[in-house]
Amino acid sequence: MPAAPASSSPASKSSAATGLLFVVSAPSGAGKTSLVAALLERDPALALSVSYTTRARRSGEVDGRHYHFVDHARFEQMIAEGAFIEYARVFDNAYGTAESSLRKTLDSGQDLLLEIDWQGARQVRERFPEAVSIFIVPPSLAALEERLRGRGQDSDAVIGERMAKARDELSHWDEYGYLVVNDHFEQALGDLSAIVKAERLRTPRQAAREQDRLRSMLGGMPSDMP
Ligand code: GDP
Ligand code: ADP
Ligand code: 5GP
Repeated sequence: MPAAPASSSPASKSSAATGLLFVVSAPSGAGKTSLVAALLERDPALALSVSYTTRARRSGEVDGRHYHFVDHARFEQMIAEGAFIEYARVFDNAYGTAESSLRKTLDSGQDLLLEIDWQGARQVRERFPEAVSIFIVPPSLAALEERLRGRGQDSDAVIGERMAKARDELSHWDEYGYLVVNDHFEQALGDLSAIVKAERLRTPRQAAREQDRLRSMLGGMPSDMP
């Protein structure tokens, strides 16, 4: 695992105007991409961070939408430039989240979701302690393998490698704030939606959104409102 990228700007502070940051991890094949895609469809207020990767493009993947596909040289250059808020090597490929687009989205007040591995999630938690992290687990290892095969995107060798790493990835479940079991898809999707909704309803967020209402009822807000 690489060292955490050098910090080029101070860690964020919670602020009413800042979007919420969600981090979702899961062993490959657990269903996180499908769940996140369905969540975004239901919730247009949520933006998805598009990672940089050196992995080969799968059929159906669009450059700039699913990932920014770059070669190793470009990725190393971006590391040297301090462009990543986090990056990690997963399955012989490098994956990273660009700091500039992340900050732009959060600063505009939009909620952002990162679909990254546990190494990246750790780095993000260090920089953004208020990030909401969610771990998705499959119902069983047998189901995980079945899903990887059913996806029909990876060779037997790649599937074997991902299965071999699955236990290691699963072992990080307790570093996350929320745990979702993706057995029945709709139920797991409902759980994810509930987490996003509950986080948005937390008092400091509501205080910002509902300040006019609260002020009209209370005749002024205490200056130390969160
Ligand atoms: P899939 O999860 O099986 O669809 O495989 P992918 O190739 O899309 O992702 C491989 C791994 O890289 C997963 O664990 C992802 O969560 C992780 N990953 C994707 N993007 C990022 C990123 O920007 N940063 C980090 N640290 N990990 C990422
Ligand atoms: P990940 O992004 O975690 O690697 P995917 O979203 O690509 O996983 O899902 C892997 C495969 O499993 C896909 O073919 C997907 O359609 C399927 N899948 C996802 N969730 C479920 C579920 N609850 N039940 C059955 N199959 C699922
Ligand atoms: P895949 O190659 O199947 O798309 O992704 C493999 C793994 O890489 C997944 O667990 C995915 O979450 C992770 N991943 C994708 N993008 C990033 C990223 O930007 N940073 C990190 N740390 N992991 C990522």
